[in-house]
Amino acid sequence: MKLRLHFVVDPMGWLCISMVFGIWLYNTFFVPKLVLFPHYNEGHIPWAIVVCYYIASGLCLAALFRASTADPGRLPVDPHIPHAEREHWELCNKCNLMRPKRSHHCSRCGHCVRRMDHHCPWINNCVGEDNHWLFLQLCFYAQVLSLFTLVLDFCQYYYFQPLTGLDQEKFTTRHELALLRISALMGVVMFGGMTSLFYTQMTGILSDMTTIEKMAHFSNEIYGAKKSWQWALAEVCGTRWKLLWLIPLRSRQPLNASHQFRSHV
Ligand SMILES: [Zn+2]
Ligand SMILES: [Zn+2]
Repeated sequence: MKLRLHFVVDPMGWLCISMVFGIWLYNTFFVPKLVLFPHYNEGHIPWAIVVCYYIASGLCLAALFRASTADPGRLPVDPHIPHAEREHWELCNKCNLMRPKRSHHCSRCGHCVRRMDHHCPWINNCVGEDNHWLFLQLCFYAQVLSLFTLVLDFCQYYYFQPLTGLDQEKFTTRHELALLRISALMGVVMFGGMTSLFYTQMTGILSDMTTIEKMAHFSNEIYGAKKSWQWALAEVCGTRWKLLWLIPLRSRQPLNASHQFRSHV
């Protein structure tokens, strides 16, 4: 597997991705420290819950790292255009380079991206043909992790605390409550945001429309025959093996290039 790193120089993007990383770090540190380990030690939860939390957390971080550092589908300066496909290419009037239709010029990144969906400041990268699957994975794992965190936070409030032998009047307990409230607030915001984002991303993929095309009110009637959800996701993820759709540490191979060359921009 060959992983090429792609970094976007954008201080605003660095600030946004630092906030996302900070939320991940806060919960990955405090949820095990305040909820998982004390209750594992007291025998209230099995070790599998602790391991599952760390797996969800690790997959979330891997998807964030890969989505933000993967090449979204930048076009080479001098692309090789097969003769039969020439009519499906056009000139970008901003960077003056040839690109396949459905590409878009990102003003933040300063270049064209194949089948660009949108520029996401929260990962400080464009979401395009080559990293859309990683962005989807990130939305999915962030949903799983935030829901897991919320469930543990609520269990701590309503179920675990009465079971512990801790003195409820201790100063550390009051801190613990505040730290857990912050964690629960982050969980609600992340779960709500990620669920709606995942839903809009999935409806876009299943109707074969990018966010940019949706915003420009393209009609999907001009788009080819309707695809099954399996095929639509297989094309985005670059593999028909469904288990691989969930693995962030792999490279993507396009399944079928013909979909890029349909008649819309
Ligand atoms: Zn361009
Ligand atoms: Zn961009």
